[in-house]
Amino acid sequence: MKGLKGKNALVTGASSGIGQAIAIRLAQEGCNIAINYRKNPEPAEDTEEMAMQKACGSIENCGVRSLLVQGDVSQESDIVEMVNSVADQFGSVDILVNNAGIQTESPSHEVSTADFDKVISVNLRGAFICARETIKHFISQNRPGVIINISSVHEIIPRPMYVSYSISKGGMENLTKTLALEYANQGIRVNAVAPGATITPINEAWIDDPEKKAEVESHIPIGRAGTSEEMAAAVAFLASDEAAYITGQTLFVDGGLTLYADFRESWS
Ligand code: NAD
Repeated sequence: MKGLKGKNALVTGASSGIGQAIAIRLAQEGCNIAINYRKNPEPAEDTEEMAMQKACGSIENCGVRSLLVQGDVSQESDIVEMVNSVADQFGSVDILVNNAGIQTESPSHEVSTADFDKVISVNLRGAFICARETIKHFISQNRPGVIINISSVHEIIPRPMYVSYSISKGGMENLTKTLALEYANQGIRVNAVAPGATITPINEAWIDDPEKKAEVESHIPIGRAGTSEEMAAAVAFLASDEAAYITGQTLFVDGGLTLYADFRESWS
């Protein structure tokens, strides 16, 4: 896609699922990719291997560069170190994808403060600090940049039993809009991709259970869950110059889930 070749991209939580697919897709588009992982480097190495295979056929002599960067996005010091390290090693950062995310399930009145804080500190506070540090870098180098936040349909659909997750994604909408407005005149675009139900490890509760999967898919107008690659395609578009005039928007990639599928047939 236009304008992606040679750009330096940092993807958080890129060892699995949607983040992994985004890193692979951006490498295929010619971006150098920094693959963030929280703890275990092995799955991140798998992402790197797959990305280089897809981009160049092999990890050796690949025109696309890759880096593995350890960092827990709930820790401010880790984020500062991660962004600086990517900027030093690549020379700059052009694209940040705030993808890392977690969820916990519990009735809202039983959610402990510690569990609430944990989800917010990864999904929302972490995304903010990553954006803040990357924007500092864009400004210090006087260069344009792109930030893409991986939100969720739960940015707008309330999700009982997942109050911290819903709040984190609702907050992400405002994070996206506020930063987009504040930095638009400095060549910095900020958008979000909001996946619907997607086949990734975060959904281990239903993806391998045909009955539960059918129940989830019955609420999706297109009739099936999405794939990580479909989310990555939207990210690549928003990161590219094809989307040069788009900022402050959330692109829902959800098979129509946010169209209120239960209204497909008349209720009368
Ligand atoms: P996933 O569990 O495969 O990916 C989440 C990634 O975040 C993992 O690689 C994990 O290691 C990483 N991570 C978690 N805590 C971290 C931390 N503190 N620091 C750094 N990395 C951390 O699930 P996924 O579905 O690929 O989720 C990716 C994003 O997509 C999340 O933000 C999620 O909320 C969002 N999303 C997913 C779906 C879906 O149905 N799969 C739907 C809507 C939104």
